[in-house]
Amino acid sequence: MTTETILILGGSFAGLSAAHYALRHVLPSLPKKDGTTYTVTLVNPNKDFFWRIAGPRACVSTKLMPSSKYLFPIEPAFASYPKGTFNFIQGIATHVDPTTKSVSITGPTGEQPSTISYLALIIATGVSTPSPLFTHQVRAVDGEDLLSTFEAFQKLLPSVKTVVIGGAGPVGVETAGEIAEFLNGKPGFFASKPPHPKAKVILVCAEQKMLPLLRESISKQAEKYLKRLGVEVVYNTKVVSAVHDTVHSVSQTADNFTVHLSDGKTIAADIYVDATGTRPNTGFLPSEWLDSRNKVACDKQTLRVGDVGSLVYVVGDAGSYTRGGVMDMNDAVPTAMTNLKTDLIASVTGKAPGPNRIYKPNLKEQQICPIGTAKGVGAFAGYKMPSFVVWMIKGRDYMSGQMAPQILNGDAFKKEGKWKPDPVGAAQRKVGLSSN
Ligand SMILES: Cc1cc2nc3c(=O)[nH]c(=O)nc-3n(C[C@H](O)[C@H](O)[C@H](O)COP(=O)(O)OP(=O)(O)OC[C@H]3O[C@@H](n4cnc5c(N)ncnc54)[C@H](O)[C@@H]3O)c2cc1C
Repeated sequence: MTTETILILGGSFAGLSAAHYALRHVLPSLPKKDGTTYTVTLVNPNKDFFWRIAGPRACVSTKLMPSSKYLFPIEPAFASYPKGTFNFIQGIATHVDPTTKSVSITGPTGEQPSTISYLALIIATGVSTPSPLFTHQVRAVDGEDLLSTFEAFQKLLPSVKTVVIGGAGPVGVETAGEIAEFLNGKPGFFASKPPHPKAKVILVCAEQKMLPLLRESISKQAEKYLKRLGVEVVYNTKVVSAVHDTVHSVSQTADNFTVHLSDGKTIAADIYVDATGTRPNTGFLPSEWLDSRNKVACDKQTLRVGDVGSLVYVVGDAGSYTRGGVMDMNDAVPTAMTNLKTDLIASVTGKAPGPNRIYKPNLKEQQICPIGTAKGVGAFAGYKMPSFVVWMIKGRDYMSGQMAPQILNGDAFKKEGKWKPDPVGAAQRKVGLSSN
């Protein structure tokens, strides 16, 4: 009897979702041939799923956001599947060999690599942030690195006088709001600024407006809410570099960084938070699988990587098909996994493959952004959302109470979801990389 492996690299939003989808809807549909059995193997550097959405508040205060609200053990979420169908490996993929269809995996503390052979491969290794506050470090063991990073940050925070945040996308805006409220307190209901600010919080925005996915009036509203908390926004300016003046230590309280700006000015800051974007975790993949931004180049409709027969797919922020985000990942997982099922059935039976399931990006104005613990801005499906609705959905707890368990348990994928077969026949299926 042989066991074939559907190997999923990365156990966060996309990898967990893909694993649940595969266990519920792919494995049970595969023809039993020659006694072959199938298993889903999930590889992730940490045993816990990090609800990074809560990062901007979690880094500021354990009281407001304890670790039980953003770190969730992965394995128990798969305990209900039949024995032998799911396997979790705590490790890091370091090399993929498409010729032998195998992946080298190193243990979390750099043990000798082992090799796993795969029948099908799902890449869900996502992205890292330049700031350690928002990424479960690949070499962290069970959240320890993340928790000690937060601990050091929280020891430093109460005594700082100047904080600079580089980047005014949602992560920068949310972090500025959380830090400013923590340091300067909650202003009165009608106040336009904090009565006795303790610290200067400066948000450096490269463009002429913050929150690029949202319309100008919403960005202006965000600025108003940030000002209430004592945040100053500098527009049309980039952070060129943030030079660490002295060796970092939690006991240091003054002028740790010199932040150099594109207008030639410098700011002496106690803390610099780099929120300037993300970098794909794809360095271990064959270079021919990557696009010019180091994202995994895929067919943007089917999410296949390379030839149909290679049975490789990408889901989540690592993929070239997406502008990122959890809603987008939610739309992409059923597409990639249905196409995996179609391709697998065709490869096992030798019959003509079924039709493609197609991914369509949702490019509507959609983003919600809490600003401190009481206010927020955003839009959903093109409609502007009032501040109290943003607070209700996200600002209260960064969705850690309701949505995090749903992602962990794959609740969105209890059903396969309705879809229309691609009118382009299976015979004319495009081969992955050609559509990029
Ligand atoms: C602070 C912050 C707040 C956010 N808020 C929101 C929000 O409110 N709404 C929203 O829609 N989106 C939000 N996002 C974006 C959202 O978090 C991403 O879209 C999401 O994390 C992407 O999920 P993913 O599974 O593709 O990748 P990731 O979450 O990046 O996960 C990748 C996983 O792969 C693992 N991995 C990396 N390399 C390897 C390897 N070599 N081998 C094995 N495993 C590996 C990583 O450790 C990680 O567990 C936010 C992002 C940040 C940083």
